[in-house]
Amino acid sequence: MKAYKYRVYPTKKQITEINLQIEKSRQLYNKRLALKKDAYKNKGINLLRKDLYKQVKGNNEMHSQVSQNIADRIDKAYKNFFARIKNCERKKGFPRFKKYGTYNSITLPQIFNQNNIGKKTYFPKIGWMNVKYHRVLQGTPKTMTLKKAKSGKYFITVCCDNVPKERIKVGNGKVGIDFGLNHFIATSDGKFFDHPKPMRKMSKKRKILAREFSKTKKKSKNKNKARIKLAGVDEQITNTRNDFGWKLCRKLIEKYGVIYVENLNVKGMVKNHYLARAITDVSWSDFTNKLFFKAESAGGKVVKVNPKNTSQKCSGCGEVVRKTLAVRTHECQHCGLRIDRDVNAARNILSIGEIGQELPKYKPVGDEAYTDGISPKQALLMKQEIPLQ
Ligand SMILES: [Zn+2]
Repeated sequence: MKAYKYRVYPTKKQITEINLQIEKSRQLYNKRLALKKDAYKNKGINLLRKDLYKQVKGNNEMHSQVSQNIADRIDKAYKNFFARIKNCERKKGFPRFKKYGTYNSITLPQIFNQNNIGKKTYFPKIGWMNVKYHRVLQGTPKTMTLKKAKSGKYFITVCCDNVPKERIKVGNGKVGIDFGLNHFIATSDGKFFDHPKPMRKMSKKRKILAREFSKTKKKSKNKNKARIKLAGVDEQITNTRNDFGWKLCRKLIEKYGVIYVENLNVKGMVKNHYLARAITDVSWSDFTNKLFFKAESAGGKVVKVNPKNTSQKCSGCGEVVRKTLAVRTHECQHCGLRIDRDVNAARNILSIGEIGQELPKYKPVGDEAYTDGISPKQALLMKQEIPLQ
């Protein structure tokens, strides 16, 4: 399955209708959820998707498929909830009622006429909408979601099946990759890749807008304006990051058939409030997912390895070389190796991957002594090697 996202330009009349449909969907969602909770609480009955659909029908103002999809969403919310319990995650996320403004999309789970997707795209009850069809859709369209973004723009996402494999010629090299804040990634053969420069400008702009947003009065018109502006920059940042990520994936896959990446325990790290921003800013995990996806579709290989001790060990001779967070260069007094410390780490990741096992255990020294579960913040600081504010 592959998703294609396009911006749509509905007319004023259509916008009114879309908002109305979304609001009706929200109400139906809440009604069905209430029914499900009730049935379980009072009668011990677990209502299934079909029961929900049958017992509370949407009326004629809503397309039957959109209505079905709402039952699917409740079903999915429960499944995810149980999966989280099974995984012993801290946030269980029990399915909740949707407040006004928190429900923002409607889905057509089965596209009945594929020809209805293009520069003019059809959505039942809304009609034909103008779409910026910036890339050609491939495969068989299965589902379509119409969404109102926080920035006030509208998008459709079309999920396709049977998408032909991307033609990337997979390279035959092997590489280890180290993630950092100084450089987005460093490779074991000494290359660095950074986020595009406009990212910095956008981040600055975001900071200013976020400040403006927090200064505006609660529930005022200005607050809403500021919120939309902020969402607009967020959208820009996400787009730039995605674009950069996909291109970098392609570059790497074209050169290397096997790519070793560090196994980031991002879930564990995000739990800590301080780290959340840093993680989302650099989005290593998001990039890793992209890399996995792209390599798989092209026929390449991505392997996760345990990154423990990779920054302190010398990739030349295997000796431990103590260095503080500020030291950017790895200088080995045992074998004379002198390279960037991130490249040294990337080389270690490559060799761990090649051996197919973890590094032999040794007594941790210096900053790495803390990584054994004391404070995740401390651990990340070590990883990033520059202090968070
Ligand atoms: Zn050495």
